[in-house]
Formats: sequence, structure tokens, C-alpha cells
Amino acid sequence: MALIVQKYGGTSVGTIERIENVAEKVIGWRERGHQVVVVVSAMSGETDRLIGLAKAITPRPLPREIDVLLATGEQVTIALLCIALEKRGCPARSYTGSQVRIITDNAFNKARIQDVEVTAMRADLNAGRIIVVAGFQGVDEDGNITTLGRGGSDTTGVALAAALKADECQIYTDVDGVYTTDPRVVSEARRLDRITFEEMLEMASLGSKVLQIRSVEFAGKHNVPLRVLSSFKEGPGTLITFEEAFETEPMEKELISGIAFNRDEAKLTVLGVPDRPGIAYSILGPVSAANIEVDMIIQNIGHDGTTDFTFTVHRNDYERALEILKEQAASLGAREVSGDTKIAKLSLVGIGMRSHAGVASKMFEALGKEGINIRMISTSEIKISVVVDEKYLELGVRALHEAFELDKAA
Ligand code: ASP
Ligand code: MG
Repeated sequence: MALIVQKYGGTSVGTIERIENVAEKVIGWRERGHQVVVVVSAMSGETDRLIGLAKAITPRPLPREIDVLLATGEQVTIALLCIALEKRGCPARSYTGSQVRIITDNAFNKARIQDVEVTAMRADLNAGRIIVVAGFQGVDEDGNITTLGRGGSDTTGVALAAALKADECQIYTDVDGVYTTDPRVVSEARRLDRITFEEMLEMASLGSKVLQIRSVEFAGKHNVPLRVLSSFKEGPGTLITFEEAFETEPMEKELISGIAFNRDEAKLTVLGVPDRPGIAYSILGPVSAANIEVDMIIQNIGHDGTTDFTFTVHRNDYERALEILKEQAASLGAREVSGDTKIAKLSLVGIGMRSHAGVASKMFEALGKEGINIRMISTSEIKISVVVDEKYLELGVRALHEAFELDKAA
């Protein structure tokens, strides 16, 4: 017998029919002898609808009241799922976040979980009940309702799994796992059986938005095996776990797990700045003082006492960053400031590349063959990222997917 926490997202509970389908699935697990804790999101579209109601009154509703409002979305689905379970003769009990006592800090709209009380849930599980918990919400020390930020039900699932020391946290969604890349770009993209937490974080932060990043961090920190799987289609999904867990398997870990990409960045260049100590700080200091996050940074080798400096920021911050640089240009002694928003970043991700030389050159060769010019490069132990012109994004992803034969299992 295992203790399993299952989280069902908004589309999985988007209609009464789908809620009944979830009830059937949950009962299936129970009949196989497992204890099940279910976390649900609000019905799809509901959270947006609620935000819309508040914004129809004022563009800046109070954060505390937003949380009181949004928490109702999940309260509806826990009750409906329990009604569906009971109708099938399966004992069940619903809990809001504050009934569990999922204790958070008091940062409304983006609260962090600090503690989860498990005594009541354990008693229910031992009495043979299915527990259904509202995702995305908690309660602060003063009894205020809080929410965890959009997509926060994933984090609720992981937090409950960690607190209950569950054997697995299953995230049911509308895709059947984590893919080597976006199947809408590469039709040969393949579902991965497994991926490490480290790789998943890179894939997620680079735009493969299957799971809320915080939930992956949380699961890694507490060593909760996470599985992403479809609510609509049978299948093993993708298991996210630690590298060590792979070594007990006969299978070799593949070199590259996937290709992530995003179009959300823009690049800025300061040309002809004096090549002297402190110049990087004089350029980036004012940018970070404006709370703009910088991603890739390149400084060219200086010649004739000057150098060029290029970096990327989120596209939403581009105008502001450009303005700051222009204001600074004169005092920096820069010749020119320029920028480009039509760029895209592609990244190869894989813990296997740690122990293999030649991944970067193979990547550059594949892009070169397609005539794709690489504008920037950055590397880490498990990732190589390049910036290219936006119009080459799809072509680049396809070329890399083919060059590294990601359509074939290792
Ligand atoms: N209902 C919330 C949202 O839409 C939380 C979640 O679904 O995870 O963001
Ligand atoms: Mg979600």
C-alpha cells in the first residue's frame, strides 16, 4: 500500500462530467489498496473570472480580499468531488486550506507555505477516507485566507506530499508528461519517462510550462518524487526525481533531455565603452537598481581601449532598460546604445552533458548547417543556451532535435 497525493488541474475538473471522471480515477487507486489525498484546482477559467469581477469594481482591489475571493474557486471543486465520491459509495472528506491548516506567511496573492498540519488528515486516511484538499490556498497565523500565486495548486500538492511523507506526488494535467520539446514545434517530440529535478527546473524556467516552478523546487528540496501525467489518457507520464534514483535502473541516462526555448527576451548593446575596471558595474548597476533582471551577459575583448557590452533582459523590461542605458551613455563614454527585441533563446538541457565533451560543438554545427547565426552563447554544467534571431527559432529547435536524435529513446 502506498500513500499517494494526486493533484488535478483546472481542465481536469472543468465540468461536472470531468469531476465525475476524476472521482472514478481516484476510486480506482483506492481499490488497488492505496491511500489517496487529492488536491484540486478551481474549474478552468474560474480564477480568471473571479479576478475579472473584482477588477470590474476597481483596478486595484485589496490583496487580502482578492485572496478571500479566489479561494472560493477551489472550495467549489473540493465539495463537488466529494459529492461525486460519496455518490459512488466512497467515503471522502473535503478540506479548505485553512481547515487543514496549511500555514503560510501573510504575503497575500503570493504566500509561501510554512507548515502543514497532518494529524486530522492522517486520522481520516486511517479511517479509510479519501481526502480532498483545496489547492492554491492557506491561512496565515492571524487566520487570514491566503493564496499561493497562479498555478499554486501544484505547490499545495507537493507540500502535502512532503508533510505526509507520501510515496509519490502525481500531477494530473492536460498533457501526458514532459516532452523533449514543445510538440507543437517538433511533431517528433517524445515524452520522457524520467527527468531530474535540475533538468526540469531548466526546462520549466525556459518556457516549458508544465509545472509551477516553485513546486519543482519544493519537491526537489524535500525529495518528493513528482509524476506528471494526463487526466484524460492512461499512461505512465514523466517521473521527476533525483539522478541517483536513475542509477538503480539498467537504462543509461540520455545525454540530452530536451530543448527549451523562449521568445520573452530582448537584447541590449552598449558600443565603444572604455575598457577599464568597473565598467560592467557602471552599465548594469543602474539596470539592477531599477529591478530589471539580467540574463545573459557578454563583454567583447577590448581593442583600441574600448569594448562592447551586450546583455539580455525580459522583453517587458526592454524599453525601460534602453531608456536607462541611453541616460547613462554620455557618462559611460559610450559611442552608441542599441537593442533588439526580435531574438529568441534556445537551450539544450541534460545532466548527461556534464560528462561529455563535444555537446556544444555539435550544437553549433547543427545550427550552422541551417545557416542560423548565433548571437550569444552561455553555458552551465547541464545547459547550453544560444540567442538567435527570432525568425530562426522553430528551425533551430527542429535542427537540434534531429541532430541529437531526441525522437529516439536512449
Ligand atoms: N486556480 C489557481 C490558478 O488558476 C491555482 C491553480 O490552478 O493552480 O492559478
Ligand atoms: Mg495549473
